[in-house]
Amino acid sequence: MAKTRNILKNLTIEQAKGKRTCHTNSKHTIEAGEYHLAQEVAPMKRENICVECAGKVFDLAEQYLAELRKQLGV
Ligand SMILES: [Zn+2]
Repeated sequence: MAKTRNILKNLTIEQAKGKRTCHTNSKHTIEAGEYHLAQEVAPMKRENICVECAGKVFDLAEQYLAELRKQLGV
């Protein structure tokens, strides 16, 4: 049986090794040791998203996914 493809595996939760700036809102800071959402946008290139923004990002992604499913009827 074919394994189902995970189209979201470029998204992971990471623990910041140093102080980072949130990619979604440059006023947000991710402190060293803090957990955050990371999106690998290209090999070895990550965009870091703080916890506060991650909730909104997930909300939007869920709406978008629901819309895609509706359009395809699955
Ligand atoms: Zn943020």
